[in-house]
Amino acid sequence: MDKIGVDLGGTKIEGILLDEKYNTIQRKRIETHQENGYDSIVKSIISLVSELKVKTNEEVSVGICTPGVIDTNSGLIKNSNTQCLVGMPLQNDIENGLDHGIVMENDANCFALAESLLGSAKGHDVVFGVIMGTGVGGGIVINGTLHKGRTNIAGEWGHHTLHPNGNECYCGKQGCVETYISGPAIEKRWLEITGKKESLQSIVRDLSDEKAIKWKKEFLENFGIGLANVIDILDPDVVVLGGGVSNIPFLYDEGKKIVYDKIFSDSIETPILKNSLGDSAGVFGACLITDDHY
Ligand SMILES: [Zn+2]
Repeated sequence: MDKIGVDLGGTKIEGILLDEKYNTIQRKRIETHQENGYDSIVKSIISLVSELKVKTNEEVSVGICTPGVIDTNSGLIKNSNTQCLVGMPLQNDIENGLDHGIVMENDANCFALAESLLGSAKGHDVVFGVIMGTGVGGGIVINGTLHKGRTNIAGEWGHHTLHPNGNECYCGKQGCVETYISGPAIEKRWLEITGKKESLQSIVRDLSDEKAIKWKKEFLENFGIGLANVIDILDPDVVVLGGGVSNIPFLYDEGKKIVYDKIFSDSIETPILKNSLGDSAGVFGACLITDDHY
């Protein structure tokens, strides 16, 4: 059976058609246009899948990678930073539109699955996949199978409380990891410390002055505590980082050292690796969830 995977992101929707051996047959990317609302997103996904479906004569499975979590009881999307999806029966609406069953999973879980089976965590038994981008999420893969947890929130370290009474988070709590180490959180804190409005990419280019050193120390401390807490519980064989923030080079040496310093062990050597699939993890993960890795 061929596979169609769709990665629904805040700015773009990407679709891929793969054959049984995960070779790419066709790939297409369109804009999300969140401002046009929920119905327009549903329509875009349906037309994208239909377009890919006609490129093969085989039966297809369809997987969708979404921001947010699907509530196990109601089937509705929750905890999504693409706000127009929250509370909506996305899976139902897409299935009705396509007249075809689909499998749907959140982006961090799709990322973790793709990196552990096809990317840089390949060959490791217990994988913690981390997304640090617009939001912060995580997914756990054990022996090639996604560990979703009783209520589908396994790995969601982005909403661990890092600082009680800290930054306000869209989830309703305060001091969540996401409000300190996501891309937007980094840029906001940088502006507070330095008075400069800069992109993440330009922030990390030169970190030599006093204010930059202060920012970096604080950021690494938050990253270190957040990730060390997860490693203490899960003790994974590997951690793989994805999302825009994972492009910061010092996470893999200085960052790793700070994580190690905070872990409850003096013999820690857990690899912390950069992803190897880049933007493609979402679409590949969406295909993998339609297989027996789920
Ligand atoms: Zn939160």
